[in-house]
Amino acid sequence: MINDSAERIFRGGTILTMDDARPRVEAVAIGGGRILAVGDEAEVMSTRGDDTEVVELDGHTLMPSFIDAHGHFANAPQIIKWANVSGLPAGPVTCIADIQRVLAEFVAANSVSAGNWVLGYGYDVSNLSDGRQCTRDDLDAVLPDHPVMLIHSSNHGAVLNSKGFAAMGYDASTPTPPGGLILRTPGGNEPEGLIMETAFVPIFADLPQPSEQELLDTFDAAQQLYASKGTTTVQEGATHAKDLSLIRTAADQGRLYLDVVAVPLVLEVPKLVKEYFPDFTGGPMELPDRAAESFGTYRNRLKLQGIKCVVDGSPQGKTAFWTEPLLTPGPNGEADWCGQPVFPEELIQKMVKEIADAGIQIFCHCNGDAAIDVMIDACRAAGMTAGDDRRTVIIHSQFMRPDQLDDYVELGLSPSFFTVHAYFWGDLHKENLGQRRAYFLSPMASAVKAGLRCSNHNDFSVTPIDPMRMVWSAVARTSRSGEVMGPNERVEPWQALKALTIEAAWQIREEDSKGTLAEGKLADVVILDGDPTSVPTDRILDIAVVQTFKEGRSVYCA
Ligand SMILES: [Zn+2]
Repeated sequence: MINDSAERIFRGGTILTMDDARPRVEAVAIGGGRILAVGDEAEVMSTRGDDTEVVELDGHTLMPSFIDAHGHFANAPQIIKWANVSGLPAGPVTCIADIQRVLAEFVAANSVSAGNWVLGYGYDVSNLSDGRQCTRDDLDAVLPDHPVMLIHSSNHGAVLNSKGFAAMGYDASTPTPPGGLILRTPGGNEPEGLIMETAFVPIFADLPQPSEQELLDTFDAAQQLYASKGTTTVQEGATHAKDLSLIRTAADQGRLYLDVVAVPLVLEVPKLVKEYFPDFTGGPMELPDRAAESFGTYRNRLKLQGIKCVVDGSPQGKTAFWTEPLLTPGPNGEADWCGQPVFPEELIQKMVKEIADAGIQIFCHCNGDAAIDVMIDACRAAGMTAGDDRRTVIIHSQFMRPDQLDDYVELGLSPSFFTVHAYFWGDLHKENLGQRRAYFLSPMASAVKAGLRCSNHNDFSVTPIDPMRMVWSAVARTSRSGEVMGPNERVEPWQALKALTIEAAWQIREEDSKGTLAEGKLADVVILDGDPTSVPTDRILDIAVVQTFKEGRSVYCA
């Protein structure tokens, strides 16, 4: 029966199914884009036909490919054309002089002529040995004739130079908007360089864009960023209308070979609604009656999965919202700084209720415990319970309190953690928040113990796409200085891998087709050159991707 015979059979290595009931098997057969058989070698070999390729894993490890639980795919086509001013190991920067060098080299290498924007990504003062923010003067010193914008690693702010501020119309008379931050020159009122949150959002939206064709031409390279790391389902986790339009065009032109899950940003929903539902009626979000029908189904590898809400900012930027003050001054030198929500609580309550009533899944960004309280109250006011199976995802949930785990269980909230923070910013969090709060960052072990399903994410481009660093950080929780940021919250590698596979699949309602190796599921698999569940913890970071398959088709080969 030629139709039933496998295209490929994998054998001869470690095979992790990510299924708790049967973690390891001897062989897997795939065909027609799906998994045909999983189990003992003899049993799986029965699917072998004349044309079946038997792939000897040769000691390598096969497992389900990774699912991006939260990140910003729309940044990928752009970032390929930006300067990397991230700190080690995500980039080359340790001080302001490094930033200056990177920018000068970037302008030379790309022949960017004066007057054209130079964009950088990954800026973060905590990577700088100078002990101060990079300023407009630092950037003017090297690029006086180009407008420059260095996007903050949180994607919630940027540093601009003089030409950049002039291009955006920011000067001494520009008021700081509510919920925003504009650092001013000492003794003056000129913007000094760093702007954050609501002061940043409009200028980011106003950035001159590459042409659609230029962006579409980067889609192959953009998807390779993920495929080369074993990731075959990617997320655009705060989709703007213009990004959705671009990704739809790429999808319609057949340029997507990975699955893209888009989660439109709440502020953009009215715009999207106007585009797709001209006859809408509804509340403050203007959701039409049948809005939910647009969600949950792939078309040409793109689907809308839910609506993204945002309650607060970033902890490393000190713009998250906590109940207890920081131990260090706020971003403007404030004493007893607790941060602040991005929107008034009343508006968040209205948004959550309207989205929930429309039957659409919510993905809500909350970093600080006060932000999480706002969301918990909003979910309770909207009448949510765990029994509804809404799978409301609380993105980051980084500085939740232990008592909030009970609320998550009661309301059916599911955390998507950000454990690489322990490495990148763990030392800083301890300094700002103290040991008790820093040690409970992204508390995966406690969440699992409470019975919650939780995923893990890189929040690309906040940190690079790097599943093995996610696994390592969930297992080791080691900071840059070598401190274990909360020994009690370390998890086993198996749990850390589940957070990138079956748990991430569940959060986007794809557990029936992805996340484990099981008969009938999609043949989305990755071959690694090591087994994360059996190597010593500090070797997990050395594990590399050998080959990635999306529905049985090789999409990356080392
Ligand atoms: Zn994000």
